[in-house]
Amino acid sequence: MIYTSTRDASVRVSASEAIAKGISADGGLFVPMTIPTINLVDIERLMRLDYIGRAKEILKLYLTDFSDDELAACVENAYRADKFSSPEIAPLYALSDEVQVLELWRGPTCAFKDMALQLLPHLLTAAAAKTRKGVKIVILVATSGDTGKAALEGFCDVPNTQILVFYPENGVSPMQKLQMTTQAGANVGVCAIEGNFDDAQTGVKAIFTDRALEEKFAAHNLAFSSANSINWGRLVPQIVYYVSAYCDMVKSERVKLGAPVNVVVPTGNFGNILAAYYAKQMGVPIGKLICASNANDVLTEFLTTGVYNRKRPFYCTESPSMDILVSSNLERLLFLLSGQDADQTRAYMQALTEEGSYKVSDKLFSKLSDLFAAGSCDDADTERTIRRIFEEYHYLCDTHTAVALNVYAAYRTKTGDAAPTVVASTANPYKFSKSVLHAISPDRVTDDEFDAVEALHELTGAPVPPQLGALRGKTPRFTKVVSKEDMTAAVLEMLGL
Ligand SMILES: *Cc1c(COP(=O)(O)O)cnc(C)c1O
Repeated sequence: MIYTSTRDASVRVSASEAIAKGISADGGLFVPMTIPTINLVDIERLMRLDYIGRAKEILKLYLTDFSDDELAACVENAYRADKFSSPEIAPLYALSDEVQVLELWRGPTCAFKDMALQLLPHLLTAAAAKTRKGVKIVILVATSGDTGKAALEGFCDVPNTQILVFYPENGVSPMQKLQMTTQAGANVGVCAIEGNFDDAQTGVKAIFTDRALEEKFAAHNLAFSSANSINWGRLVPQIVYYVSAYCDMVKSERVKLGAPVNVVVPTGNFGNILAAYYAKQMGVPIGKLICASNANDVLTEFLTTGVYNRKRPFYCTESPSMDILVSSNLERLLFLLSGQDADQTRAYMQALTEEGSYKVSDKLFSKLSDLFAAGSCDDADTERTIRRIFEEYHYLCDTHTAVALNVYAAYRTKTGDAAPTVVASTANPYKFSKSVLHAISPDRVTDDEFDAVEALHELTGAPVPPQLGALRGKTPRFTKVVSKEDMTAAVLEMLGL
């Protein structure tokens, strides 16, 4: 399988090069030039395997320059039973006959980022061993909260790697902040920036494409890579759980083999829903891809009008992992839907940087409209949804999942589409305890995150993940805050250069 860049049609790299580099030198993202397919017979075969078995089979189709043994070692290390709170790794919870919640937060940091970031360090070190022998990989991460912790946990003390995480000082939940600032490990660093997630992401992208800095690094035997979802090694593990969810739906006789299921995804950087798109293109019977946004509804507007416009207010919401105005992975979709037209994709991205907006061609828009439905939901409706779902089904969901459930309910009413539906649940509710508590019981206000955890547990009986409970009273290890202009200096300082 050969990979190319979304911005330069002449680029040709292997899977391991794509993963080791993270981003193409032209600023584009790596994509496989063809999408492998699976048929219903393959799905029947995958149904008989466990999650690890399914992951091996799917990854093999994309990462063709990894040996079966290498992939087996990566996958078995990533999805170890002692790291996940469900033996199924990504279990389905039947909310109703029609709606299945795909719980993607059973990993060590309680958010769906673990599904990819438990695997990526293994893929990356295997890839680096093939392409850059003797070089230490420096992982730079911009995070809206969950990626940072999941990446820290995934890379902690992995030999030949160093990881540095930047997060918006006021843009993450107290629990997310404490998870990151208390991270253990000798190869980890965490730094807050004065700005929002987009500032952090822009800063990290600028560091990646800074030639002078790259040379300085090379002189010290260091090379940058990315653990953000711009890295293909983040995307491919996410395809697995959509294939796996379909297998489980058929196995439990919720759908007949071959019948379509809709997928609803609470979306920020467009990585998770793009993985669902790949699963659909591979041949998994997926109907509509329903993209759910919070008050930062740039994607809803885009998918319903064809105009992407980042010139709009930025809202800090109760679903902070989706507070994003520039969704990086959309670039991959534009590339694919334009018939792999790198010039066209580059032109859209340039317009976005220079003018703040672009409008896709009518042809591309019509493809988008066939594939996707979209909707958004503000904080008040998010809280109402958490309460409704708890009252109706006695199921406690987090704020991001609630956005998806809200947007799905509106879609269902508007279209009458009664197809079985998988809703991606992206975080454990205790990661956002204050917001979830306020939704369940508006009178029980508290300023302390851990009092909120206790109150929520008392009210709902939902189990508290031990790794979150254990954070109470811990002293942060990382307290540095820098301006967004000083991110490069912060990197050099953390590396001792
Ligand atoms: C990262 C994240 C999202 C958004 O996922 P994307 O792949 O960036 O679209 C949604 N919910 C939670 C809890 C997250 O951590």
